Formats: sequence, C-alpha cells, structure tokens
Amino acid sequence: MKAVQQPWFNIQRIRDDLYCITEPHYTWENRANLWLIKGRESDLLIDTGLGVTSLKLYLADLLDKPLKVVASHVHFDHSGGCHEFDQVYIHQNEHQALCQGNQQLILSAPEFGFVPETDFYALPYQGFSASNYEVRACPQARAIQHGDVIDLGDKAFEVMHLPGHSSGSIGLYDYASQCFFSGDVVYDGELLDELEDSVIDDYIESMEKLLQLKTDEVRPGHYRSFDRQRLQELIKTYISEKKAPGCPSEN
Ligand SMILES: [Zn+2]
Ligand SMILES: [Zn+2]
Repeated sequence: MKAVQQPWFNIQRIRDDLYCITEPHYTWENRANLWLIKGRESDLLIDTGLGVTSLKLYLADLLDKPLKVVASHVHFDHSGGCHEFDQVYIHQNEHQALCQGNQQLILSAPEFGFVPETDFYALPYQGFSASNYEVRACPQARAIQHGDVIDLGDKAFEVMHLPGHSSGSIGLYDYASQCFFSGDVVYDGELLDELEDSVIDDYIESMEKLLQLKTDEVRPGHYRSFDRQRLQELIKTYISEKKAPGCPSEN
C-alpha cells in the first residue's frame, strides 16, 4: 500500500522571478517541469502538471497578481491542472481538445496506457487510482497562435508554434532575456515523436527553426535546463537520426 504524500509538489526558486515546480512522487521519466515566472503586472505559469491535486492552492502564497497560464501542449503531464485557472491559453490546434477534455489526445492514446499505477511512487490522496485517471475539461481555455505575445508588464514571451511532438506544441521565447521555454519540443532526454498526434517531418522542421534561436537558457518541459551548445547538440542529433537512410521521413 502506497502512502499519501502532501505536499504533492516541490518548488525550486531559480531566481527572484523564476520558479520550477515538479511532482516528485510521480515517475521521474515523465515528470514535467512547471515554470512560474513573476512579472510586474501579471505572472505566468507554463504548464500545470497531472492535475491530481490542487496546484492553485499549493501556489497560493506566491500568487499576488493576475495569473496567465499557458499549456505548452495538451498532453496530460502538462495540462492536467489547467481547469483550476481562469486565464488559460493553449495553441489553437489543441484548443478544442483541452476545452472538451479529449482524453484520446490528452492521454495520447489511452490504449497505450501511459498513466500506469507504477508511475506513482506515492498517492496524491487516499483512494487515488491511476486506472481512473483523466484530465478534466477546461472550457474556459483560449486559443493562441504563432507570434502572439504573453505580456507580463516588464517582460514578454512570444509564442513559437513548433509542431511535431504534438500538433499544438509551442515554445515561449523572451527576446529581452533570450530565455526559451521549450515544453516537450526539446529537452535533454529521449524525444517522443511517435505519439497520437506526432508528425516527424513537422518535428524536423521545428528543430531546424530552433537551430537559429538565440538563447543561452533553455527551460524544458522535462529534465534539466541547458545552454545553447547543448540545445544545438540535441537538435543536430535528432535531425541526423531522423534523416538517416531508411527512416520513414526519407521515403
Ligand atoms: Zn508531451
Ligand atoms: Zn511531457
């Protein structure tokens, strides 16, 4: 019998205006990084975790301004807590899926069983069962698209549409600080391009765009943060593997 763990979340202060929140009792392999950025007029939360317990309550002491919540894409490890918040944004390609709670896209083919009991080292509450896990619909979500700007007053993030991992995957880029929040488009681990809504050719194109990106601070959807050199290594490795003879993208 697994124990109930509260708090369910962990928070790490990176600097005064940047925090990383994780769910340490959920498998490290699929554990998302949720990023809280403090702005002058509003704050920004990038991704919301599994949604198995209240992120809004957990963050309450840190939230003293209007909060904008952006889902980097619709997958459950990023969008699970969106329903709790008022101002929620997601790329237009996945807007309907989040509004309606389309589990096929959110759980990325539930028949693959991506959310097994064994992925939970502890329980978020008594009686929790992964077999009943679903992401709640978020009808209040608003659609964003490439080029939109999320303005926090003293800093602003441009939406970059980077499909491939999923059709509505985005990154958020701050031109002033050159900090890039990459979601699941690129992180320092095995990249997933064979999910329900993945398109490898789109992924390659997105990666080629990112090769030009001026950034020395990548804050990814999973695993550790990295610099421009590592970003370029990860991109080049991905592209060369996908373009190797015999790969489907060459046929
Ligand atoms: Zn994903
Ligand atoms: Zn993910």
